[in-house]
Formats: sequence, structure tokens, C-alpha cells
Amino acid sequence: MVTLKSENLFNEAKKYIPGGVNSPVRAFKSVGGTPLFISRGNGSKMIDVDGNEFIDYIGSWGPHLFGHNPPFIREAILSALENGTSFGAPTELEVKIAKLICELVPSVEMVRMVNSGTEATMSAIRVARGYTGKDKIVKFEGCYHGHADFFLIKAGSGALTFGVPTSPGVTKGNAADTLIAEYNNIESVKKIIHENKTTNGNQIAAIIVEPVAGNMGTILPVENFLKELRELCNEEKIVLIFDEVMTGFRLSKGGAQELYNVKPDLTTFGKIIGGGLPVGAYGGKREIMEMVSPSGPVYQAGTLSGNPIAMSAGYAALSYIKDHPEIYDTLDKNSAYLEEGLKDGLKNIGKNFQINRIGSMMTLFFTEKPVVDYNTAIKSDTQLFGKYFHEMLKRGIYLPPAQFEAMFVSIAHTKEDLDKTIKASYESLKSLNY
Ligand SMILES: *Cc1c(COP(=O)(O)O)cnc(C)c1O
Repeated sequence: MVTLKSENLFNEAKKYIPGGVNSPVRAFKSVGGTPLFISRGNGSKMIDVDGNEFIDYIGSWGPHLFGHNPPFIREAILSALENGTSFGAPTELEVKIAKLICELVPSVEMVRMVNSGTEATMSAIRVARGYTGKDKIVKFEGCYHGHADFFLIKAGSGALTFGVPTSPGVTKGNAADTLIAEYNNIESVKKIIHENKTTNGNQIAAIIVEPVAGNMGTILPVENFLKELRELCNEEKIVLIFDEVMTGFRLSKGGAQELYNVKPDLTTFGKIIGGGLPVGAYGGKREIMEMVSPSGPVYQAGTLSGNPIAMSAGYAALSYIKDHPEIYDTLDKNSAYLEEGLKDGLKNIGKNFQINRIGSMMTLFFTEKPVVDYNTAIKSDTQLFGKYFHEMLKRGIYLPPAQFEAMFVSIAHTKEDLDKTIKASYESLKSLNY
């Protein structure tokens, strides 16, 4: 595979951009080699600047539920552009998208649009703190909620991949207010709440969780984990935040909360909600959301929030979901087909690796024991994953360039794509000869 143009661009990029990229995991650092510079995407395919074509399972790290550049989103953007790019004043489309989000996700009674998942989660925490008058928050080891200071404590995704789950630059004060529990371990949460009780009750404003974890690789919640979290938060008057930036509109039209039938107090969104443009949102119970400025005292604002071009893409994406609820069955069936095919390949070469999957989110972990939390995830052989990644890439399959990420199937992936992927995986594993 010729990648000369990418190599040249990467050398140039490194002079002007830290690490040559605008978001760390893009740099291929954990798998080695040079990141590919992409020139265009169409459906399930991505084409790099050297003209190599790949079946893409990153989907821009989550947004591309419909594949690259679907005509209905492109047309919505083009038609919005005719009217101008930004007004800094309310538009009708913002009302329509807010209403649609509340319809698709019933726990959301009011919603505020922002520009990224990070903005959504950090704002949701501020609202929870303003609402409860408490400072501390609980997050789970290996979960990623964006790059706000108080989340970069034992964080997942790139932070985990690069071995700095707790980032320099995060103050001691921030770190002290973030309490870390173990995913899928309700006792660890109870213990933290107990330890943080004073005569005035517990000091915890919010518990934030990925209802299905995707940023330490895909990890499903064990039976009753989410329900027990809900009960605990009710008893202790703690705001329960589901971070559905990845799972929202991916696992079902109502996200993980619909699948598991648990209603959080607040939900954060990103990725699919913007139809490929930079959008995030947070919403939930009216009583809590009315705390947000200007209806309440908790300040949160954004010059480009609710931007008309971004809203046109998001509204097109969510309308499609509303009108085509059957896509989730198709996604699940196609993803199950891929999972089975990959597993057959692994069995054929006599290896027992783990594949965790729910709907169109999945991760192949290079470890023999079930992966249920951070500690079992990090047992994975990341070196072997790196080699596998490059073997797949050579065969035209573009996986996330890190072990601790989810791969995504889109509605643009055809049976032919999936078969090609299954075959490439078997050949890759065989060629590795470990
Ligand atoms: C991607 C992600 C974020 C951060 O979103 P950005 O748009 O990258 O800021 C937050 N939470 C979860 C669960 C995510 O997957």
C-alpha cells in the first residue's frame, strides 16, 4: 500500500500542530505507523490522499450512523447554506430539533444545544452542582466524558490509550472533587457515597456514567447495574447523568436508556446528534433544566450554539431516525453477522478472544477472559492489536487505531463489505502467526 502523500502531509503537520493531529487518537500512536490523511468519504468507504480505499468502521468516531456523506444530510446542509451560516439569534429549526429530541428520548423534557460532547457533559455537571448545591461527582474508571478538567481522572479513550488517564494540568481541587467508582460494581458506588457522608448528608451532586461503556472498548452494563444506580440516586438525591454522547441514537432511537429501560435525570448527547457536524446537547428533567440561564442562575452560553448549518444536519439525521425506526433491527442483524464471522475466524485459528457487542457497537479485545470493566479491559494485548490493525488496514479495512475503542457498523455497510471484513480478519490473524 502506497502512503507517500500521507507521510509527507504528516511530517508537515507535525511542524504546526501538536503531534500532527487535532485529536490525539487520530495519530496512530498506539498502533504505530503514519496516520492516513483522508480526502473523501462515501457510504461505507473512505479514500485517502494516495487513493487507497477502505471500508470504514470508525465512522468519524461515532457520528456516521448512515455512512459517509448521505445525500439527505448533504442536501439539508446545502439548502440551509443558502440562507446564511450564523445569526446569533433564535431560529425555527432550533425549536424543531429540541422538540424532536424530547420526542425521541422521553426522559428529556428540555434540552440545550452546544457544540461538542465535552461541552454537553461539563455543562450537565455544572447544572447538577447548581441544582443540588453540592460539589463532588462520581465517575467510573475507564469511562470517558470529554476533556473537561474534572473528567480527566482515570479517563478512557485516548487518555487511557496514551497511558495518561489522569492528565497533567488538572488541579488538585478538581481531582479531589471527582470520585472514582468501578464500572459494573454497584458496591463500589455505595462505598463512595458512604465515605462522603457528613452530618448534612452525602456531598455528591451527580453520578455520571456511560450506560454502555464505549471508551475502554465496548463494555455492556451487567444485569441491574443501571437500575441499581437509578435506585441509589433516588435514595440519596443524587442527579443521575447518562452520558449518551456515543450511545444516543446509535443503540436505539432513545439510546441506551430505552434499551435498558432506565431513566436518568440528565442525558448528554453528541456525535450522531449533529449528523456529522459539531453538535452536542444536554437535557433532562424540566425542574433541573430550568436552572439553566436565562431561565435560571446556572450560566452556560455559546456564540455558535444551535448554529443553523449544524442544526440542519442534526435535524435531518434525527428525522431520518424517527421515520425509519427499522434501521436499528437492520444494524443489529448486520452487526451480529459480522460478530459471528469474526468469531468463526478466531475459532478457526484456535484462539479465544473476546468480542463485546451491542447493536452496531463492538470491540474485539485481544484477551482470553471476559471484559467487564477497566481492569479486565487493560489485560488486552495492545501490541498484538496494533499488528492486527495494520494487517486489516493493508487489506482495506479501517478499524479504530486503538484497542480501547468501539468500532461502528453503519446502515451503509453492505453484506459484501461485511464478508470482505470477515475474510480480511481471518487472513490477518493467520498472517500474524503468534
Ligand atoms: C466522544 C465522547 C465524549 C466527548 O465528545 P466530544 O464531542 O469529543 O467532545 C463524551 N462522552 C462520551 C461517552 C463520548 O463517547
